[in-house]
Amino acid sequence: MGIPNEYSGVPDNWFVDPVQLGIPGVRRAAPEDDNPLAWQSDSLCAQTDPEAFFPEKGGSTRDAKRICGSCEVRGQCLDYALQNDERFGIWGGLSERERRKLKKRAG
Ligand code: SF4
Repeated sequence: MGIPNEYSGVPDNWFVDPVQLGIPGVRRAAPEDDNPLAWQSDSLCAQTDPEAFFPEKGGSTRDAKRICGSCEVRGQCLDYALQNDERFGIWGGLSERERRKLKKRAG
């Protein structure tokens, strides 16, 4: 009696590359991760009327803020505006004045 060739039940393809499976956390960084504005590709305002986000002085910000309320990248948007001192328009659901207040409060 010889030793059987197939002494292991482990199939050749047992190892599956997690990168190919797309498991969260082991994904390869996409090249656009270097772009600080990459989140804008998921922004809701890009699909709507951008003028609502830059109203005339005294104009209504209600529509823009409502859209921001359902936007997936609201957090990134607000962070970006705060870090870059964006002066004009609605970012992350906050007006220029509201962002200024938020910054003051954060110290
Ligand atoms: S939070 Fe508002 S301003 Fe920012 S990307 Fe989303 S919709 Fe646009």
